[in-house]
Amino acid sequence: MAKINVLDKQVAELIAAGEVVERPASIVKELVENAVDAGATKVTVEIQGGGIRYIRVTDNGTGIAREDVENAFLRHATSKVKNEEDLTRIMTMGFRGEALASIAAMCRVELLTRTAEEIAGTRYAISGGEPGELSDAGCPTGTTITVRDVFFNTPARMKFLKKDVSEGNSVAAAVEKAALGNPGVAFKFLRDGGVRLQTPGDGQVLSAVRCVLGREFSENAVPVRYEANGLTLDGVISRPSFARGSRGLQNFFINTRFVRSKTCMAALEESYRNTLMVGRYPSCVLNLTVPPQAVDVNVHPAKIEVRFANEKSIFDLVYYGCKTALGANRLAPEIKAE
Ligand code: ADP
Ligand code: MG
Repeated sequence: MAKINVLDKQVAELIAAGEVVERPASIVKELVENAVDAGATKVTVEIQGGGIRYIRVTDNGTGIAREDVENAFLRHATSKVKNEEDLTRIMTMGFRGEALASIAAMCRVELLTRTAEEIAGTRYAISGGEPGELSDAGCPTGTTITVRDVFFNTPARMKFLKKDVSEGNSVAAAVEKAALGNPGVAFKFLRDGGVRLQTPGDGQVLSAVRCVLGREFSENAVPVRYEANGLTLDGVISRPSFARGSRGLQNFFINTRFVRSKTCMAALEESYRNTLMVGRYPSCVLNLTVPPQAVDVNVHPAKIEVRFANEKSIFDLVYYGCKTALGANRLAPEIKAE
């Protein structure tokens, strides 16, 4: 047996950082979630070189007070959770207090931020975990975070990055999911200088769907709005005639968080029973609003997987919600009383 080493802080930090930040798209996802948590109504994401060379996320949210700026970049430092109990009632996208620390450990980060109460904004840089000085900066209320040279100090991880185009596509997909999940936020996405996506932020799912998934989808969308046992389902599903050859357009959100859920997918497909040919799948953009106790988002650092306290109630919500919407539009048989 080789001797056991206790890793020094910097190595341990890089390992922890690697859990949260796998690629440029995960950085964008975290930064956008922070913007949404900060109450932003406008979020702009810019990338260059697939996000490997440059990422900038600008929001008009609350901003970070100067006295909090350095702390925001410490691991397990968060304004969203105070105690163990809070973990059972998470309503924010973030709560681990790990994203900024992880990003700053692996990249070069520059922050510009100002709260409404402050006269001067704050500029702060932190690169490979090495903090710089705080200084005054003129800026509007909100936050701009610029990330350069992703993984510059972790060459092993850099090797696993794909080509710029493919990393850039993953970033685009992350922004699209955020835009679909937050129709009340106006998103703008620029890739190598060109505007690739812009949503109005008018609060209508259908507007976001039109911008992200295209006119054909939005014209074939059936609205869904359903409530049962304190759970709500809303969004749009596709007409049976618009069925696709894959499940690639099944977008589920729990309390606006994008999730992958076999339960939700199965319930959706079951509601289309006998309306689709074999090998054809329905599409959807559906948000489930559930009490925070009904779902455990603390399963995976990237938080795409969730666990439900009661799988059946989630299945039923999606199944009956979709079935009712299809029935009301005469696209499927009405539900018979059991
Ligand atoms: P978490 O989101 O889990 O709290 P992060 O590392 O992502 O952890 O962020 C740490 C803290 O920094 C947040 O809790 C929040 O207080 C602050 N913060 C980060 N990004 C923003 C932002 N865009 N606007 C306002 N505050 C922010
Ligand atoms: Mg966060």
